[in-house]
Amino acid sequence: MTTAPAPRSAAPALPVPAALSCHDVHVAFDETEALRGVDLHLAAGEWLGLIGPNGAGKSTLLRAIAGLVAHEGTVALDCGRRPSGVDVALVPQIPILPEGMTVAEYALLGRSPHLGWLAVESRRDRRIVSEVLERLELRDFADRPVTHLSGGETQRVVLARALTQQAPILLLDEPTSALDLGHRDAVLELIDTLRRSDGISVIAAMHDLGTAARFADRLALIDRGRIVADGPPRSVLAPGRLSDVYATPLSVHTVEGEIVVLPAPRARKDHQP
Ligand code: ADP
Ligand code: MG
Repeated sequence: MTTAPAPRSAAPALPVPAALSCHDVHVAFDETEALRGVDLHLAAGEWLGLIGPNGAGKSTLLRAIAGLVAHEGTVALDCGRRPSGVDVALVPQIPILPEGMTVAEYALLGRSPHLGWLAVESRRDRRIVSEVLERLELRDFADRPVTHLSGGETQRVVLARALTQQAPILLLDEPTSALDLGHRDAVLELIDTLRRSDGISVIAAMHDLGTAARFADRLALIDRGRIVADGPPRSVLAPGRLSDVYATPLSVHTVEGEIVVLPAPRARKDHQP
């Protein structure tokens, strides 16, 4: 007996903009309470920057939204449905790259949530992959093993896989930490362009507070598993609050209209001759 392939679910040409809410989300790992009652709303088409010190819970929150970690509380799209792989694409902080797979094959994995059970990728899926590789300047890498790339190239390839998913909500976990300044801005500008042209909503955990403020409509500051500030970048990036949460003196400046967060100057140690 042969098994007939199940019918393909048609992927939309462009994702329909989606909004998402978290209500009272808790995540515990053995002794560690990584999230302790997170409430958060992401509007359709919005870029929400998630900031906070190491270990605050940024990755755990993104993973809970993507359904990759067990949680209590609710994560739901505005239609009330729990998001799945066709709704949410995650670019993880530490991706696991399979041995023996090319860049193009890896990017094609992003189409999996759109495929029916036992279905194979169509010409359309391959066209979407080649368009995304082109947009991320990865066409020349298409046949390169995915494990044979620099840190920055790897980060763009992992982003490519997420973009081929064509999900309306993109979750980025420190997506540019391995990129040089040129590639960092190019990747973030591309995501911003996609957001505006395709109506994608973005939650991006970002290390650099100035860059987070530059791209996000809104920032949510997370500290020890709780959102402690949520609002426009200028109001969230208050020096006193940041110094408390990051446990180091920080100052906030405006340079050519952009917010810059700096460590307080070190006390000078003048050497006596
Ligand atoms: P961030 O991304 O803000 O640096 P994480 O979400 O990775 O923080 O981690 C939040 C807390 O949860 C940390 O204390 C971390 O050690 C813990 N944690 C994260 N993942 C795991 C895990 N798989 N098992 C045990 N503890 C974890
Ligand atoms: Mg993290």
